[in-house]
Amino acid sequence: MQTSFKAITSASLLFFLTLPATAEVRQHGAHEHGSATLNIAYVDNTLEVELLSPAMNLIGFEHMPENDEQFKQLNSALSKLKHAHQLFSLPSTCKLKHINFEGELVESLAQSSKSDHPGHDSHKSKDDHDEEEHHHSDIHAHYQFGPCKDINQLNISLIKQFPGLDHVTTQVITSNSQTQLQLNSQQQSVPLNQ
Ligand SMILES: [Zn+2]
Repeated sequence: MQTSFKAITSASLLFFLTLPATAEVRQHGAHEHGSATLNIAYVDNTLEVELLSPAMNLIGFEHMPENDEQFKQLNSALSKLKHAHQLFSLPSTCKLKHINFEGELVESLAQSSKSDHPGHDSHKSKDDHDEEEHHHSDIHAHYQFGPCKDINQLNISLIKQFPGLDHVTTQVITSNSQTQLQLNSQQQSVPLNQ
């Protein structure tokens, strides 16, 4: 996945890549509808958040958008993902410094706005057949916030805003701890002790 590496600009995201759990998700693409992965790092007043989710959970489908209604659904999902301060309870002083999305659906949207005929040429499929019936697609979202001082807890509204999301396996790394927990309809916050 060349695009992944192009998009990764910060040292702590590279740090994520060295973690076995994340590496496994990236390599094997643990793709389970209803489930997503969230990696959070809070070090030196910088907060990094990486969300990896099947597109189904966020958009409601995983194929290329085929009509206006589906383009609208895709745009609406991306708009929710872009409003980072509505997804993560952070003070306004903790500004969004970097945001990036990856995934073939996101890329298809970017292409279709540039050209009149998006085409499927750039879309590389792992499976040559059964694509129509068994096609799956993921969305990766990366956020970087800073400077974020004295944050002890992060409330996360992903499950509220995306009803297709049932649970989120979350890993939190700070300079002195590493915690793994599951977010669900009951548990939607994580402790952050820098
Ligand atoms: Zn899928």
